[in-house]
Amino acid sequence: MTIKERLHQAVTNLEDDLRGLSDYIFANPELGHQEFKSSKAHIELLEKHGFTVEAPYAGFETAFRATFDSGQAGPTIAYLSEYDALPSIGHGCGHNMLGTVDTGAGIALSKVINEIGGRVVVLGTPAEETTGTKVDMANSGVFDDVDVAMCTHPSDENTMSGTSMAIHPIAFEFFGKPAHAAEAPDEGINALDAMINLFNSINSLRQEMRPSARVHGIITHGGDAANVIPDYTRAEFYVRALDTPYMNILSEKIINCAEAAALASGCTMKHKDFENIYKDMITNETLSQAYNKNAGELGIDMVPEKVGENGSIDMGDVSHVVPSIHSYYSITDGKRVIGHTPEFRDCTQTPFAYDMMLKVVETLARTGIDVIEQPQLLEAIKEEFHNR
Ligand SMILES: [Zn+2]
Ligand SMILES: [Zn+2]
Repeated sequence: MTIKERLHQAVTNLEDDLRGLSDYIFANPELGHQEFKSSKAHIELLEKHGFTVEAPYAGFETAFRATFDSGQAGPTIAYLSEYDALPSIGHGCGHNMLGTVDTGAGIALSKVINEIGGRVVVLGTPAEETTGTKVDMANSGVFDDVDVAMCTHPSDENTMSGTSMAIHPIAFEFFGKPAHAAEAPDEGINALDAMINLFNSINSLRQEMRPSARVHGIITHGGDAANVIPDYTRAEFYVRALDTPYMNILSEKIINCAEAAALASGCTMKHKDFENIYKDMITNETLSQAYNKNAGELGIDMVPEKVGENGSIDMGDVSHVVPSIHSYYSITDGKRVIGHTPEFRDCTQTPFAYDMMLKVVETLARTGIDVIEQPQLLEAIKEEFHNR
């Protein structure tokens, strides 16, 4: 048997463990930073298969780092697991299966790694839907000893690793002065007017915005009573662009809009980042091609990403510090199903999805084998990374 045949056997043997993990997390959805049951389930499975686990990790209660070391020289392959859910709809983003596939890939690779050297790391990365702990991990040196990082996300298509939008989450607050809205409106300073001006100024700005950029926001506090001049308002905005430099330019213009709105209304204004800023995703094309080739050999036809359909992912920051890919795999059997919906959530419980889960585990683990076994491949991956 070749090493890839032995890997296939190892993946087949993992089926019950992996279905069990995905189903357990599906049935116990937990929001970001509260993924206590979910992270524990991952850790228990990794320990069962001989991994050494550090948890909590990198300052996060529900993060972990699981390592399986062959004890021989060679590169370090990292797979990144997510397991946070969404409010009300549970695993509408399919992170029950996302985490299972990446953890499964780590376990599968560990079954053959003693033959080829190197080490495999599975990182549990909490709160992808909110604060994005991969950003903190990328900034705190977690990837310093990692050679390549891989993550793959459930979707309705098998999409090659591509780009994602940089995102800047900005909260604005306006502070005015309350007054009776009929008896003494002239004594008030209207914080809601400032807020409405901010929205209108941003809308004017759209004429000069790159069509690929996105700015969208909500008012989280608009006042307390219609007969009181509002003295306090708050809004949250996301500013997104295909690259970080343009996102910064846009953010500055939007903050200027808020300053102008404060001046015009006589309010004072404060702004702050209410979640982590995410960088754009830079796919390592050499690593991505190795992944796509393995996927093809296992019967998964990878398609390029569609222009203009990018979200933002915290893997972006990882891709700026280590060669990375973040691909997508279909769990919907050819049907168009949008993420963050109950329909998508339920697709993770279908025979088609379970079948894909194993194929993608094998694809990720095969790609790890390629990186370890082919020094010239790793060299090309690193060269591309340094040239970006
Ligand atoms: Zn997701
Ligand atoms: Zn999501």
